[in-house]
Amino acid sequence: MTRPLITSAQNTWCPGCGNFALQHTLKNLLSDREKEGKSLDDVVLVSGIGCHAKIADYLNINSFYSLHGRAIPAATGIKLANPALTVICCVGDGDAYAEGLDHLIFAAKRNIDITVIVHNNRVYGLTTGQYTPTSPLGFKGKSTPSGTAEYPLNPVELMLASGAGFIARGYTRKMDLLKGLIREGIAHRGFAFIDVLQICATFFPATDYYDSHVYELPATGSGNFEAACALAREWDYNSDARIALGTFFTRVSPSFEERMIPVPVRKEERERAIQVLLEART
Ligand code: SF4
Repeated sequence: MTRPLITSAQNTWCPGCGNFALQHTLKNLLSDREKEGKSLDDVVLVSGIGCHAKIADYLNINSFYSLHGRAIPAATGIKLANPALTVICCVGDGDAYAEGLDHLIFAAKRNIDITVIVHNNRVYGLTTGQYTPTSPLGFKGKSTPSGTAEYPLNPVELMLASGAGFIARGYTRKMDLLKGLIREGIAHRGFAFIDVLQICATFFPATDYYDSHVYELPATGSGNFEAACALAREWDYNSDARIALGTFFTRVSPSFEERMIPVPVRKEERERAIQVLLEART
């Protein structure tokens, strides 16, 4: 019998928030995993701080609610402690591209086998509407009433430059595509990055803009770095260009934990090692 995957915690997201789409996409993926006979005990969800982070309260799986910008190092530690786990890391654009930017770059560089999903609503929603690194030039929010005076960051380009082995972009109003991308990211052996254009219904309601600009890439899984760079630059988070959705780049290489732990950690070995540690403490 499968367990309920949505908890009874009161949901405080605004009506129309794109976080619901991400929550239900993950729920459906977890449900598929159970139907395939795989245990959900081997899955850990790590979140940062922000509206997105409440997903750790709302999904009924092992989770770790970390500090702002520090979800990726927490996820890295969990994966290193037990490489057999599937580690999914949900972060916001403020989390990943501002406070925790160095952690994102180094996780990609190290190729730690975790899946990072960025709930990129391009605004600080929890703190009521300040601009983030992906807000467009001229964005008017609480901290920039006259509009921002800086260009946004291009996360796909940044991840290409950082050495990420799986780079994709999804959209919360294309849930089937999103589910496929997250499934691909989890299956990828090594660091997987999925930037998700997420609607913030209250502070960045960009539904019409995204709906009229997104298109799906015809094929996935290209290992052509130059082609991926050109595609990443097609839309720079500020222009009126078309917005590609799908997998920009894939490349498989040994993961960080494979290089750190050359032999697979078996359960018995791990338990023996923990026992030794516990005895050493007493
Ligand atoms: Fe969602 Fe925006 Fe409301 Fe936060 S402020 S819950 S991101 S709609």
